[in-house]
Amino acid sequence: MKRRLVRSENPKPVRRKIKASKFQNSKVDAASAKKVALSCQILAKLGLFKETTGHVSARSADGANMLIRGRGREETGLLFTKASDVVLADLDGKRVRKTGILKPPNESVIHGEIYKVRPQVGGIVHAHPASIVLTSMAGIELRPIFGGYDPRAMRMAINGIPVYQSSLTLHRVEQVHEMMAVMADSDICVLRGHGAVVCGTSVEDATIKAIKLDALARMNLQAASLGNVPSISEKDQQAFMSRGGTGMSGGGAETLWRFYCEWLKRG
Ligand SMILES: [Zn+2]
Repeated sequence: MKRRLVRSENPKPVRRKIKASKFQNSKVDAASAKKVALSCQILAKLGLFKETTGHVSARSADGANMLIRGRGREETGLLFTKASDVVLADLDGKRVRKTGILKPPNESVIHGEIYKVRPQVGGIVHAHPASIVLTSMAGIELRPIFGGYDPRAMRMAINGIPVYQSSLTLHRVEQVHEMMAVMADSDICVLRGHGAVVCGTSVEDATIKAIKLDALARMNLQAASLGNVPSISEKDQQAFMSRGGTGMSGGGAETLWRFYCEWLKRG
């Protein structure tokens, strides 16, 4: 694992390809490609991704395109994603330049349609965590059943998490617009029997939110098997929500991102 991470941190082939493109801020895009690859590795190691399905993206520096994990015969799966596996695509999911053998995934349309209408979104995770699939299919609501144990995950539950009812993979714009209507202004949408879409201001932010969503779903899944585990009190919920300071974006996410990068590096 350590050797793999070292390779991903020195993505010379990607740098050459992106520098050769017509886009400005190519150094920023190269850095984003590395973050997308790290996010894929972290989330796969945590079990949010399995095998070759799912993807992470970052909005490009010029705002008009996205850097998204590519798919193709030569891929080795999410756990082994390298920066050179990340492709530059427009917001319709079309590859901007044929710089490698991988192509944007069929579900690129999820990312592109969100980037088009939500300028504050800088990173997106689309994953198929078992915890989300099971809780959504069993109709287990993701409730705030803990407090100080994990305030970020608890706040997600209190804020409410929209659930899109179709289990189909999302290849068409019409499907994605239907999903986005359910998602509304939330940064999260559970796709029943499929997975979840998680938006962030950056790749780091989206990654940490996805980890917290999975933690919330895992706890609710285990609680459901125990019987009648109550939510924390209304008084506690209100107190937590009025505190602020440890919201789902901002510095806290950056700290957790550093933790997970170090955790990944140390195998
Ligand atoms: Zn999917």
